[in-house]
Amino acid sequence: MRIAVLAETDKSEPRVAATPETVKKFIGLGADVVVEARAGAAAGFADSDYAAAGATIADNAAAALTGADVALRVRRPSAAELPGARSNLAVIAIMDPFGAGAQLADLAKSGAIAFAMELMPRITRAQTMDVLSSQANLAGYRAVIDAMAEYGRSFPMMMTAAGTVPAARVFIMGVGVAGLQAIATARRMGAIVTATDVRPATKEQVESLGAKFLAVENEEFQQAQTAGGYAKEMSPEYQKAQAELVASHIAKQDIVITTALIPGRPAPKLISAEMVRSMRPGSVIVDLAAERGGNCELTQPGETVVVDGVKILGALNLAGRMASTASSLYAKNLLAFVETLVSKDTKQLAINWEDELVKATALTRDGAVVDERFK
Ligand code: NAD
Repeated sequence: MRIAVLAETDKSEPRVAATPETVKKFIGLGADVVVEARAGAAAGFADSDYAAAGATIADNAAAALTGADVALRVRRPSAAELPGARSNLAVIAIMDPFGAGAQLADLAKSGAIAFAMELMPRITRAQTMDVLSSQANLAGYRAVIDAMAEYGRSFPMMMTAAGTVPAARVFIMGVGVAGLQAIATARRMGAIVTATDVRPATKEQVESLGAKFLAVENEEFQQAQTAGGYAKEMSPEYQKAQAELVASHIAKQDIVITTALIPGRPAPKLISAEMVRSMRPGSVIVDLAAERGGNCELTQPGETVVVDGVKILGALNLAGRMASTASSLYAKNLLAFVETLVSKDTKQLAINWEDELVKATALTRDGAVVDERFK
């Protein structure tokens, strides 16, 4: 079995899909590994590190793909970015499949079997393969670091000879993986933290991290979690009650970090322009939902906008801002998945199409898009 580690073609993506550590593990599985030159450079992994781990370095994607059975990437490659790939090449990446039907059809035509890591079921067996969690955790951490860097005051309370500095007030909206890490990070930095979510299970999680929970806890709230553990889209009545509760709270906050998402839907709008204007100048909002339209009405994806002295960071790819750590975790997620695709006896790729992990993540097979949602 030959595994190709391809360089990312999107220049704004510094992460890489394998590290010298995972290359060694792949070789231990009986694979040959070929790494495209400079694939890990932006994440701090040199070609010589991969070579020392046992990989061959190829000058370009075509050379890396020669004879490859598996191609690893961070982001979905186009069919044109897989030159000379053999039919049935397993391409494993974050495929971003929503709205990408034409690109997936091209990948299918190229003969690739495309696996979308972000569709991995969130079950115990697949925890080691959960790229959404590994990357969201880092994004939540980084959101607090970025907020601190933009905030012109201190996070912890300081009692000095020259006077007492109050602790920053941090409000986290959306307490999934990113939100929990944001709470923990802000608490470690000495901030006074409150958090909100629509799923009742989050209340205990927030309190166990030493933060205060704030939510409209009515009957709809009690039913807001789907069987899969995600949030439902809330009714207009609930949203109105939530907005009223949040409005008075937000006006007293220094930092707001928003992470609220609903699967397959645009991000819920939780912060209105009026709420932003109620905050005092110097406050900072970091909107982790920017990629999906933003939780704040005034967010511009990829930009920092300043409204009446309040900075709104439209954060994109925050995990990529910690490219080395993000790559290490992502690479381990891929390793864990590839291990399930390899026969222990023959050490060759042996995809079990009945495996629930394969069923959930495979987008293309035998020249066609097989996931009905993305046809
Ligand atoms: P996500 O990124 O889909 O959403 C972030 C948070 O936003 C969620 O907590 C959601 O409830 C919240 N939200 C949505 N609408 C909101 C609104 N109007 N107001 C306030 N908050 C709102 O979430 P995620 O981080 O992917 O986690 C989703 C679920 O998956 C959680 O239950 C988590 O515990 C679970 N999970 C399970 C595993 C596992 O078992 N392997 C791993 C990771 C996460």
